[in-house]
Amino acid sequence: MTLVDDAPAPAKRSIDKEALKAKYRAERDKRLRTDGNNQYLQLKGTHLEHYLQDPYTAFVERAPKTDHVTFAFVGGGFAGLVTGARLKEAGVESVRIIEKGGDFGGTWYWNRYPGAQCDTASMIYMPLLEETGHMPSEKYAHAPEILEQCQRIGRQYDLYDDALFHTEVEDMAWDDARKVWVIRTNRGDEFTAQFVGLGTGPLHVPKLPGIPGIEDFKGHSFHTSRWDYAYTGGDPKGGLMEKLADKRVAIIGTGATSVQAVPHLARAAKELYVVQRTPSSVDVRGNHPIDPEWFATIATPGWQQRWLENFTANQAGGGATEDLVMDGWTDLSRRIRAKIETIPAEERTPMAMLAAFEDSDFEKMEEIRARAVQIVKDRETAENLKAWYRQLCKRPCFHDAYLQAFNTPGTQLIDTDGQGVERITEKGFVVAGREYEVDCIIYASGFEVGTEYKRRAGFDLTGRDGLKLSEAWAEGMKTKHGIHVHGFPNAFLVQPTQGANLISNVPHNLTDSGRTIGAVVARALDIGAREVEVTQEAQEAWVALLLTGMGRMMGGISDCTPGYYNNEGQDPGPAAKLNVGYPQGATAYFKYIDGWRNSGEFEGLAFR
Ligand code: NDP
Repeated sequence: MTLVDDAPAPAKRSIDKEALKAKYRAERDKRLRTDGNNQYLQLKGTHLEHYLQDPYTAFVERAPKTDHVTFAFVGGGFAGLVTGARLKEAGVESVRIIEKGGDFGGTWYWNRYPGAQCDTASMIYMPLLEETGHMPSEKYAHAPEILEQCQRIGRQYDLYDDALFHTEVEDMAWDDARKVWVIRTNRGDEFTAQFVGLGTGPLHVPKLPGIPGIEDFKGHSFHTSRWDYAYTGGDPKGGLMEKLADKRVAIIGTGATSVQAVPHLARAAKELYVVQRTPSSVDVRGNHPIDPEWFATIATPGWQQRWLENFTANQAGGGATEDLVMDGWTDLSRRIRAKIETIPAEERTPMAMLAAFEDSDFEKMEEIRARAVQIVKDRETAENLKAWYRQLCKRPCFHDAYLQAFNTPGTQLIDTDGQGVERITEKGFVVAGREYEVDCIIYASGFEVGTEYKRRAGFDLTGRDGLKLSEAWAEGMKTKHGIHVHGFPNAFLVQPTQGANLISNVPHNLTDSGRTIGAVVARALDIGAREVEVTQEAQEAWVALLLTGMGRMMGGISDCTPGYYNNEGQDPGPAAKLNVGYPQGATAYFKYIDGWRNSGEFEGLAFR
């Protein structure tokens, strides 16, 4: 179905908005299902657990820890690394990071699939560039370089010395008599810490689609976050996966991961089936190497903070007069702002602004759909690659080789018309009643998002008087700044929600929270306080403030096609209204929190 002709210069074409909305709704309805998150299979503790095995680092035996540390942090990804770095800068020497992977890196430890690279510009995405003196090699760095940056931070701040790898926390409980946290792990550790931090990340538990027969497949299969280079050949740096030259490969899923991996698979495999349930929106990437001479001119003291603030101001408002980063995200905001500015000031009601936002979205998505037709030679494939939803309903993707990959002989899109794979058999997969025989199935099926926090973290934090975090949050997340939780003294969360909530550049939230935690812990240690905790009143006031905002943007739009952004299209319940950020936006939050921690008063926290 074509709603507009496919001539270039899309902005000039007239768009039939009502027809588009009807198409969006029809495509969504096709995909809505009653089982929501339950359509996916849990791997941990099941017969599918082998999909979680670490293919990257050998397991090393060690003696259990029974000692005491000043700060224990769960998760060795960006959150743990930047918090560890800020703690060290604040003079806290004893910092232990506990990580289930075999090294630092978190997302970038696990996701080594071919073509993995960041989607937000490296200059602001990669943490602590200025502190480590690293110049990103490309505008959008590839995964090996980001993993190396993680290792660099680990080395520079001596975070390796006390880290526990291949270790999963099973229990973390506050001992009020001793004023310490007691941490137990799956490696038999039982040690104590004065302070704890949680940076377990939103996307670290791989999931498989609950396709009937998934256990029956007799060929080779793996999840993209556990890439089996021993089977495929090649390497994370993009080396040709030569062992696939005689293989028929299926990749199931067409989200952000698949978009990056498919061009490499298309180049290497004898036959490649890209099995699609919902197309991603794939806009222009425009990657390029970073010129050291140019970098030398901009990398003056304080450069990364300036770039971070400039990106956030372009994204979230804050009077930016220039756009240093110039990527897909700032382009998106610029378009929306430009559209809103066409409305006369006296007519700028919230309704009119939302309508302008919708208009700019229609235009952008028409452009992205036209791109598929311009690039993909086979007309039916091109039509099937068109994404029929608003851009922020699903993770926007940017790539200059994904759509082109469908022009490679041997690469075929298997569109399932929103229904997904029907069945997996011993020999392959079935779509619309037809069996496709393959040697290997790669699951690009994503990560658990909407499941319970304690299931994803692997434990439930136990605070004062045995209070579980799941109980404290039974009616929704409650914190101050997204960091402190009443009833959980000396514990800190490192994540975006209820803080800046800047989703387009998550590391900015994390580095800033690391700074806050460094300041709070330094104060507690300076004054000899054994405990620091947000008061009940301060937490309630913060939650009340959050609820004065506009609420969640796209998550609440009912026309969105299902996915993890909108709880697979199911009502997330009343608790989800608390999954928001500072009402005045990210720029205002970062300014506010900087004043809060620099005032030295730490308003709302009780030091005892
Ligand atoms: P996603 O959850 O985004 O994608 C999973 C894919 O599997 C979807 O296309 C989904 O279809 C498909 N799928 C699920 N069940 C079936 C089924 N039964 N049959 C066929 N297909 C099925 O996972 P990703 O790993 O791609 O990405 C996860 C997130 O990680 C991204 O959204 C992004 O936030 C992040 N990421 C970031 C990157 C970056 O910054 N560069 C790169 C890669 C990932 P459907 O859409 O219909 O549900």
